[in-house]
Amino acid sequence: MSKNRIDYLRISLIDRCNFKCVYCMPEGKTISYALQENWLSVDELINLVESVFIPLGFRKFRLTGGEPLLRPDVITLIRAIAALSGTEDLSLTTNAYRLADMADSLYQAGLRRINISLDSLQPETFERITGGQGRTRWQKVWTGIQAAHRVGFSPLKLNVVVISGVNDSEILELAALTLNQAWHVRFIEFMPIGNQDLFQSKGWIDSACLQQQIRSRWGLITASIQGYGPADVFKIPEAKGTIGFISQMSDCFCDRCNRMRLSADGWLRPCLLNETGQINLRQALRQKQSVQDIRDQVAALLVAKDTIHFKARDSGTTAASTALYSRTMSQIGG
Ligand code: SAM
Ligand code: SF4
Repeated sequence: MSKNRIDYLRISLIDRCNFKCVYCMPEGKTISYALQENWLSVDELINLVESVFIPLGFRKFRLTGGEPLLRPDVITLIRAIAALSGTEDLSLTTNAYRLADMADSLYQAGLRRINISLDSLQPETFERITGGQGRTRWQKVWTGIQAAHRVGFSPLKLNVVVISGVNDSEILELAALTLNQAWHVRFIEFMPIGNQDLFQSKGWIDSACLQQQIRSRWGLITASIQGYGPADVFKIPEAKGTIGFISQMSDCFCDRCNRMRLSADGWLRPCLLNETGQINLRQALRQKQSVQDIRDQVAALLVAKDTIHFKARDSGTTAASTALYSRTMSQIGG
């Protein structure tokens, strides 16, 4: 068994998206999406969660994508996973474009935690980052965030991928969102996945620099929050919310990794950046393999996980291929 308790599954519901964020999608390149007939159905997903993952000790589930709110059956799936006695934590990551209309139904279905990508407070910059035209997109997302707040999602986290020369001038304004609301802003270091050209031209900004900026302005004290995973969490003294830093570039957290990822078309991968050992659960299900057989295969991957990670990939000790880099977060399930 892995030395960490692997109890967290990120489930991608769909690899497509209604945004085209500059850091996530490669510019000018065609992405090969999974065929819709290959998406895991709601029944297949529930079967896997209930009969394979929960019995193996998985307790936390995050629905993601692509954009998970584009999946028409997302509410049905949430209701089913939330109702399972083995589910201790269910959350969703979204770009919030459809959230204003869906926040209430998501909450009623049993979802309590939500992470929203919000890379800028400036409508023009937001359009530039998310590949939109005009200035209406930011307003729609902002309205979605307000709806999530009103409905009662807690904790409500706002994810910011920081890109040099694009949104790094807004760090203090974004951090200030935590002052009067119990919102949790998390700054994420840009990873070399998705848009390679942008990564090569911009590089990534070390979380330590952002932390320093915020500390100089207000001071920062150590804090914690439900489901903070690999984030280092702080708060501005007297603030209602917290500020997290996800520093996978400056401080590789592979040693603490507690998760696996399931793609929309059913590939279970042990590591975000390494496809070694991944197994095709869709094929296993559709070939009518027994639940016990599928469980055994996943159990074997759990054992192998310690040797399949980002650090191993970097040191060239695994059979990682360059194809890893051509996958986007939206394809893998970020
Ligand atoms: N569409 C939803 C959203 O944007 O919140 C969910 C899927 S998205 C792939 C999940 C997360 O991956 C987002 O928080 C996004 O910012 C992050 N992400 C995508 N590409 C990234 C990259 N190259 N580096 C760091 N984070 C990235
Ligand atoms: Fe879509 Fe999320 Fe990727 Fe942006 S980060 S393109 S919203 S999947």
